[in-house]
Amino acid sequence: MKQSNILIPTLKEVPSDAEIKSHQYLIRAGYVRQSARGIYSYLPLAQNVKNKIEAIVREELAEIGATEVLMPVLQPAEIWKESGRWDKYGADLMKMKDRHNRDFALGPTHEEMVTDLLRDDINSYKKLPLTVFQIQTKFRDERRPRFGLLRGREFLMKDAYSFHSETETLDATFDDMAKAYGKILDRCGLQWRSVIADSGAIGGKGSREFQVIAEVGEDTIVYDKNSDYAANVEMAEVYYEAKPSTAAKESLTKVATPGMKSIADVVAGLNVPIEQTIKSLLVQADDEVVMVLVRGDHEFNDVKLKNMLDLDTIALADETVAMTVMGADYGSLGPINAPAEMKIYADNNVQDIVNATVGANESDFHFQNANHGVDFTVEAFADLRMVQAGDLTPDGKNTLSFAKGIEVGHIFKLGTLYSEAMKATYLDENGRQQPFIMGCYGLGISRLMAAIIEQTADDKGLVWNKLLAPYHVHLIPIKPADEAQAALTTEIEQLLKENNLTSLIDDRKERPGVKFADSELIGLPVRVTIGKRAAEGVVEVKVRATGESFEIEVAELVAKIN
Ligand code: ATP
Ligand code: MG
Ligand code: MG
Ligand code: MG
Repeated sequence: MKQSNILIPTLKEVPSDAEIKSHQYLIRAGYVRQSARGIYSYLPLAQNVKNKIEAIVREELAEIGATEVLMPVLQPAEIWKESGRWDKYGADLMKMKDRHNRDFALGPTHEEMVTDLLRDDINSYKKLPLTVFQIQTKFRDERRPRFGLLRGREFLMKDAYSFHSETETLDATFDDMAKAYGKILDRCGLQWRSVIADSGAIGGKGSREFQVIAEVGEDTIVYDKNSDYAANVEMAEVYYEAKPSTAAKESLTKVATPGMKSIADVVAGLNVPIEQTIKSLLVQADDEVVMVLVRGDHEFNDVKLKNMLDLDTIALADETVAMTVMGADYGSLGPINAPAEMKIYADNNVQDIVNATVGANESDFHFQNANHGVDFTVEAFADLRMVQAGDLTPDGKNTLSFAKGIEVGHIFKLGTLYSEAMKATYLDENGRQQPFIMGCYGLGISRLMAAIIEQTADDKGLVWNKLLAPYHVHLIPIKPADEAQAALTTEIEQLLKENNLTSLIDDRKERPGVKFADSELIGLPVRVTIGKRAAEGVVEVKVRATGESFEIEVAELVAKIN
C-alpha cells in the first residue's frame, strides 16, 4: 500500500487536550480524529488495527462456542422500562424520540435487547445453554469523556450474553469466557490481571474485571503476589474492617418504615462512583422522601455502602429513588431522577456545593436546612478507610501489592435479574415456566486499543506487535524517484506479499528525517530503508520494538523478518 494513497495525517505537535500517550499518539500518528467530546473517527490505520483486534476476539469466542449476532443500536424505551433501567440507568443513557414522539435509547449495553430477543424464540430447556455475542458501537453519555479512546461517549464493545437453565452451565460459560479473555489479552501482548469486581449498574451476583496494568488506569487493584487473589480495591475484603458504630446504625434505622423497599435497590441503579472515606453523610426521611449525600476523597461504591451500613436491615420508601453523591472535586455530583418534590436535608456547606455543581436553576432539589449533630451525624463513619500498603491479603499470609489498571473487560453472572423483570421464561423438564439464568460479558474493543498503546508505546511513538500491526513492514525509499530504489522497493513489496507479509510504502517526496519520524510514530514492527546501496540489493532493517538496525541483502530479508 502506498502511503500517498492513504489518509495518515501525522502531526508534529502534541494535541493540547491529549493528556496520556495513547490519546496523543493516536492523534499524532494519524490514527483517529475527534468529532465531538468522546466521539472519534477511525482513519485507515486505526480501522486496520481495530479489525485485527476484532479478529482475535472472534476467534477466541468461536473457540468457546459463542456465535455472532448483531442487535439494534436503537432500542425502544419499552424494554428499558420493563427492566426498570429507563429511570435507573441515569444520565449516561442517551435518550431520543422518533418522529411519532416515541422514546428510544442508543444502546449503552444490550441486556434488555438480548433478553427481549431470546424470550420469543427460546422456549424450552432443550435449547439451553446458548451464548451469543456482537461487536458494536455503544453509546454512553459519560460525565467526563476523556483520554481519547479510553473513555468515549461512542465506543466499540464486544458484548456477549449467555442463557441457561442451570447455574452449573452458567458457571462453566463464565469460566470459559474468563479463559477466552485471558487468551485475547495474551495475544494482544498485554500484562493484565483478572480481579474480583463490583457489578455496578449492570447488576447481578459475582463479576470479574480484566484489568490491563497501566499507570494511567483509573482503577486501583490489589493482589497477592503468591496466589491468584486479585481484587479491584473497591472490593478488597479488608476494606470493610471498620464497621459502623451501633449509634450510626441506629440513626439510620430510624428512617425505616414497614413496606419500604431496600436501599440496595435504590443504590443498585446508581451509575456514579460513591466516594470512599465518608466525610459527610446526611440522612433524613419522612413518608416518601429520603436523600443521602455522601462526600469523600476516593472512589466508593454501592456495595461498600451497603456493607458498611449493613443496609439489608434498612428500608426506604418506594418513591425514594434518589441518592446524590459527590466527589472530592465535586465533579461527580449525580442527581439520579430526583422527583420534583424531592427534599434534601443538608447543611449550608452541602447546599452550596450542590448548587455550584449542578447550578441552582437546573437542580430539582429543594433544600431543607438540617444541622450537623442534630438532624444527622457523621462521626460514626470517620474511621472507614481504604486498604493501604502493608495491609494483609485475605488469607493473612502476605501483604497486598498495588497496581493501577485499565478495565478492558467485565464479565457478570446476572442470574435471573433481567429475565424475571422482563418475564423471559422457558419450560423446564416438568413443563414449568422458569426465568432464564443469564450471564453477560463485555470487552471494550476501542478501549483495548488504547490500553495496548499505553503498555507498548515508547517516547517515539506506537509499537505494534506483528499480530496487531496495520502493516508488517514499512518500506522507505529515500528517493522514490531514483530508478534503482524504485525497482528494489517494488521487488521487496512483491517478495513480502508472496510471504504473506503486508507493507506500507512511504512514496512521499519528504525528507528522510520526516519519513523516519513518521515511521516511528506509526509504529510498524519493521522498517526497511531502501537507499544508496539499492543497486547492490542491500537495504537497512530497523526493528521498531528494540531499535536494533542492520544492513541486509534482500534475499535474506524475509527469513530475518519472520
Ligand atoms: P468504567 O468503569 O470504565 O466506566 P464500566 O464498568 O462502566 O467502565 P462496563 O459496563 O463494565 O463498563 O462495560 C464493559 C466494558 O466496556 C468495559 O470493561 C470497558 O472495556 C468498556 N467501556 C465501558 N465504558 C466505556 C467508555 N466510555 N469508553 C470506552 N470503553 C468503555
Ligand atoms: Mg462506566
Ligand atoms: Mg468499572
Ligand atoms: Mg465494568
